Amino acid sequence: MAKSIQAVRGMNDILPEQSAAWQYLEDTLRAVIHGYGYREIRLPLLEMTELFKRSIGEVTDIVEKEMYTFEDRNGDSLTLRPEGTASCVRACLEHGLLHNQVQRLWYAGPMFRHERPQKGRYRQFHQIGVEAFGMEGPDIDAEMILMTARMWRVLGLSEVTLQLNSLGSVESRAAYRGALVDYLCGCESGLDADSRRRLDSNPLRILDSKNPDMQAIIENAPQLPDYLDAESRTHFAEMCAILDDAGIGYELNPRLVRGLDYYAKTVFEWVTDRLGAQGTICAGGRYDGLVEYLGGRPTPATGFALGLERLIALLEAHAIELPDNATQVYLVLSGTQGIRRGMVFAGELRDAISGLRLQVNCGGGSFKSQFKRADKSGAHYALVIGDDEAGQGSVALKPLRSDGEQETLSQQQAAQRLRELLDIF
Ligand code: ATP
Ligand code: MG
Repeated sequence: MAKSIQAVRGMNDILPEQSAAWQYLEDTLRAVIHGYGYREIRLPLLEMTELFKRSIGEVTDIVEKEMYTFEDRNGDSLTLRPEGTASCVRACLEHGLLHNQVQRLWYAGPMFRHERPQKGRYRQFHQIGVEAFGMEGPDIDAEMILMTARMWRVLGLSEVTLQLNSLGSVESRAAYRGALVDYLCGCESGLDADSRRRLDSNPLRILDSKNPDMQAIIENAPQLPDYLDAESRTHFAEMCAILDDAGIGYELNPRLVRGLDYYAKTVFEWVTDRLGAQGTICAGGRYDGLVEYLGGRPTPATGFALGLERLIALLEAHAIELPDNATQVYLVLSGTQGIRRGMVFAGELRDAISGLRLQVNCGGGSFKSQFKRADKSGAHYALVIGDDEAGQGSVALKPLRSDGEQETLSQQQAAQRLRELLDIF
């Protein structure tokens, strides 16, 4: 036998026993998002490398060391998307979705980053992203946060904290950047290699460093909120007032940053301490400069992305019971007539009970082995049709998870009886 091939490191299969939880999570989040009037946009997994270099920025972890970039057969440099915002803006510009109109959009799917795989950090992972274009006020920033808060509430996730900051305007951030660089130059001997490199190119990102040796320097650094311009201050205060009215608690985190010039004003993250080091489940904020930066007209924009692997882990940590998609009824068949009648009868049951999860035994087997399979399927009831039942128009019904008696029903009655037993109306 040939040596079997393994999955690429950091890229996970989502196995059948996990997929029900994923579907539940995706369905629940989609319903919340649709409840706010956002529409789905589906975007390619591959984009021109230039798009990410320009939008995410050359001096970021993602572009410097995390992208899956390759040349295709035409010699074009393509990259597997590491996030969705860039593609979303690209698509909006390409299709004229931002002309004289606002847009509320969302997308979902796999993202790719060549990071060191560990719990909560993978090379293929899944995000849902939400973006709004054309609205500059604090109301839409607040809407983003209210939407995420609703998601956690609907999912039953309580141990999550909202962190907020404001990045201010381009000008006020430039003033802050100057002060930060002066301070960091004063402690240059303590800076790690990454930070030293960023000192010129992207000093705000230094505040985001995960290196524990850098934490003392970061803690004593000048604070961004002290440099905010008046307009950003008002914007932030009004957004916080909406959150206060809605009863959403938050912590102000002056070190919460995004490094690039097109970010402005609001930044937020939802964090939890239930997931170890990878505690950020959702990150977002305002990026008013990006559309213009990618070649469009100046367009205010705000959005967030959440990580589905981390949310699944958090649902597990909360021991939240999730619906499963297990088979409810297993149809045991024997004899030529039994099989022929059974295959058609199964269709009649599915017609009669919408959403019924019914598995028909295929591939034959003794009663004993069929009942074993029935048990393994998770079904609560087995139905049995052999040649006799086929001839009489009857079916036997046997509970698999309780001590109840076996019943014999007419095939016409079966749907009604199952509805009662399964509590389906
Ligand atoms: P981190 O600081 O954890 O690296 P990030 O700032 O790179 O996160 P974003 O680009 O803001 O993350 O992505 C939004 C969300 O996507 C994160 O909050 C996280 O939940 C999830 N995420 C990001 N990278 C990964 C990854 N490699 N594996 C799993 N989930 C991830
Ligand atoms: Mg990262």
